[in-house]
Amino acid sequence: MSVTIKTDGTTAALPKRPLYKALTRGWRCKCPACGEGKLFSAYLKVNDICPTCGEELFHHRADDAPPYITILLVGHILVGLLLHLEMVWSIPPFAYLLTLVPLAVVLPLLLLPPIKGAIVGLQWANYMHGFDPYNKDD
Ligand SMILES: [Zn+2]
Repeated sequence: MSVTIKTDGTTAALPKRPLYKALTRGWRCKCPACGEGKLFSAYLKVNDICPTCGEELFHHRADDAPPYITILLVGHILVGLLLHLEMVWSIPPFAYLLTLVPLAVVLPLLLLPPIKGAIVGLQWANYMHGFDPYNKDD
C-alpha cells in the first residue's frame, strides 16, 4: 500500500503498483498499467489515455529527465568506446568521423523513447504528479 496525503490533510491508502513491471513496460513503450496499449502516439508524444485500458497517461511530467539520462548514457558509451579505440588500436581520425559521429546521432534517437517510457512508468508506479487520484495537479 502507498499512502497519500489528500488536499484536505487526511491520508488515504492507494494500492501498491509494481515498479519494476511499470519500468519495463515503459521501456518497451507500452502502457505502464496494462502493458498492452501503445504509450506513444508519435516519436516522443505520450498518448493522453491508453488506447487499450483507458489509463490516463497525460499526467506524466517527464520533462528533461529522458534527454538528461540519454545524454549521460550515450556520453559514457561513446567516451568509453573512443578511449578503448584510441588505446587498443591506432585508427585514423577519419574513421572516428565515420563511426562515432553517426553513433552519436543514432544512439540518442534510439534510446530516447524507451527512457521516456521508463520515466513515465516510474511516475505512474509511484503515483507522482497527476497519477495520484487524490492530488491531481492538472
Ligand atoms: Zn493501458
